[in-house]
Amino acid sequence: MNQIPRLRFAHLPTPVEALPRLSAHLGGPKILIKRDDQTGLAFGGNKTRKLEFLVAEAQAQGAKMMISAGAIQSNHCRQTAAAAAKFGLECILVLTGVAPAQPSANLLMDRLFGAKIVTVADRADRDRILKETFDQAVDQGKQPYLVPYGGSSPTGALGYAFAVDEFIKQEVHADWMVFGTSSGGTHAGLVLGQRVFGFQGKVLGISIDEPVKALKENVSALASAASDKFGKHIQFTGQDVLANDDYCAAGYGVFGEGEREAIHLFASLEGILLDPVYTGRAAAGMIDLIRRGVFQKDETVLFWHTGGQPALFADKYQADIL
Ligand SMILES: *Cc1c(COP(=O)(O)O)cnc(C)c1O
Repeated sequence: MNQIPRLRFAHLPTPVEALPRLSAHLGGPKILIKRDDQTGLAFGGNKTRKLEFLVAEAQAQGAKMMISAGAIQSNHCRQTAAAAAKFGLECILVLTGVAPAQPSANLLMDRLFGAKIVTVADRADRDRILKETFDQAVDQGKQPYLVPYGGSSPTGALGYAFAVDEFIKQEVHADWMVFGTSSGGTHAGLVLGQRVFGFQGKVLGISIDEPVKALKENVSALASAASDKFGKHIQFTGQDVLANDDYCAAGYGVFGEGEREAIHLFASLEGILLDPVYTGRAAAGMIDLIRRGVFQKDETVLFWHTGGQPALFADKYQADIL
């Protein structure tokens, strides 16, 4: 298990804190928060854990450059650019959307970290342009390492398998882990870690943008492939993956009343910042499930904060958050 190549730059273990005022306000279960918004790298977030394994793999392959892709305000791309800077790798980011004249928030930081930005106006062209960018870098002798969307390869997912081990060692009881899930690497790692390290509670992903059926397929496949890295294959199926897609109908990054309420409750009751895209939506789902009595009053729910707060400062959301 210790032979899996890994760099150590995340600030771990991340703290687990109680949210007593939020629990009291909702009249609900005990709520805990795991502060993966505090993983340390360039404002932190869940991608840092994945990057400890991804950058190690890139180095092992002799890469001089990392290439990744995402939305204009991608947290994943910001953290990838920071990791590339830290380890002396060049970085190209293929971002979908129209770059504003004045870059803000994550996009501004991508530039500070020295990443080269390629924008793609139409999402349909994204994979083609990503491939062209990659092939060009190969021709230039960069031996580029492709970091998949969201860092969600089997290698990246290992970050969250080991995060479960970390949580168990913190000796805090939780009946549920709740978090936002999208490209599935966080979810797959948690499901794998649950099995390998013996977490007794349930692992529930709140979908940010994918139907449950797609999540179950993607997450179980990723978890199965990641298990091989532990040296013993585990075949996961959709039944091993708990997911809820009741809160993503508006589409990726579309800010609504649920996100707004969650951001305001966490901020005003606990002094904790959520983000408009991921943790705001995941917390809105958790709050609704508490109100519906899905989590019992005597249970403990761990909200896994996955970061993303720089997007609070993106031009796109300024008009809506307050
Ligand atoms: C990427 C991201 C997620 C989703 O994680 P996946 O592993 O892609 O499913 C959740 N929260 C934040 C803040 C993120 O940046």
